[in-house]
Amino acid sequence: MESGLMDIYNFPWVIYATDGSKGSTGMGAGFYRHDTKGGGCCRVEGGVGGGSSGRAEFAAACLALEDSLTHDQPIAVLTDSKGLMTVASNWVGEGKDPLLQHSPDGDILARIIKVLHQRVSLGLFTMFIKIRAHKGEFLNEKADRWADEGREDIDNVRWDGPSLQPTFSWTEEGVEHRCSMNKTLRTRVHLKVSELQLPLHKNCTSEFLNREDNSRDLLGKHWQDKIVPDRSKRRLLQSISHQFPCAKLLKLWGLRDSDECRLCKSLHPEVTPWPRPESLGHIQARCLALQKPRIAVHHGIWRELPAAISRNSVESHDDGTKKWYFPSAVSEATHDEWTVRQILVHLGMFPEIKSLRADVTEFHAQQGIVLTDVQITSFYSLRPDGIAFDDKNKHCVLLEFTRPMDSVSSSAEGD
Ligand SMILES: [Zn+2]
Repeated sequence: MESGLMDIYNFPWVIYATDGSKGSTGMGAGFYRHDTKGGGCCRVEGGVGGGSSGRAEFAAACLALEDSLTHDQPIAVLTDSKGLMTVASNWVGEGKDPLLQHSPDGDILARIIKVLHQRVSLGLFTMFIKIRAHKGEFLNEKADRWADEGREDIDNVRWDGPSLQPTFSWTEEGVEHRCSMNKTLRTRVHLKVSELQLPLHKNCTSEFLNREDNSRDLLGKHWQDKIVPDRSKRRLLQSISHQFPCAKLLKLWGLRDSDECRLCKSLHPEVTPWPRPESLGHIQARCLALQKPRIAVHHGIWRELPAAISRNSVESHDDGTKKWYFPSAVSEATHDEWTVRQILVHLGMFPEIKSLRADVTEFHAQQGIVLTDVQITSFYSLRPDGIAFDDKNKHCVLLEFTRPMDSVSSSAEGD
């Protein structure tokens, strides 16, 4: 409101008009005290990320409040800062609001609250009056002048120390950033720490994370996907970071005496000690007791893969027709496994079965494998996991589905 309309000059209180000043040279705060025609000011710096737009106003109110401790009169503090009104009504008498530590001007606000508490404990009355900021109003003009003076007062700088909360700064692509701790910053810090830590480690996890084209962007999407159950996200994270609570790790952590697989052990109680530890690789690929579910899962995953590969196969011939044809990709619910014989028929090679048979024999012989007729016939009956044909060029690609942990040789421990 207009201070004039309130007949403020006749109030039996000490009246302080406060103002902040912001310009290219910095911030200043000032107050005018009506009864003594005096005032005070200072230059204002600091604050998290340079402080808020109301920082100078807060500082001005704080200066006025500090001045009020030099006498024992009730006071009215005129301010055009809406933020200050909120501060005053929220925090006086309530103790420190937890929000204070999140405010970029927490250093000044804490001081304001402290002085207000002092006044309350002395039984002194304090009133904040919100006025409209505009030129031409006497008290406002006076405070404005003090604030401008404060801005230039480089010998009298206040609130330039560390604020209540730590400020973080970093440079990215030549731009300096500053802010207090928040969710985004926390993520950045974690990422940076990981980047710095990664070269220091040499194990399967770091090897995976250092690998080029390791699809980490896909992992990120997977973890952000709200449809994916938390349970499976956690499993994936545990697997990648080698923290899946299998017996091998539980023993390492001192939570279990033996790293034997209880399932394998119950199948073969006579084998002591059980030769391989229950590692994640064991559970996923080698556990004797889990063979059936393993095969079911294998098929389940494989049913989806050829369909997805087929959908995403974009190579085409010069005439624009699709290059690869996936006969095995019937749908995601079912797939046909072709035998080698069917593949050869499809490629039109069966009429020359005699020479083909010789080729197969020779191919194996080169690797020191001698095949009997029965074995050759059973070779024709083999079913690759999947196939793709480029009929035009008579190319056939066999698709085999394997998981990294199918191979025992991936590490000495079988992981
Ligand atoms: Zn087992």
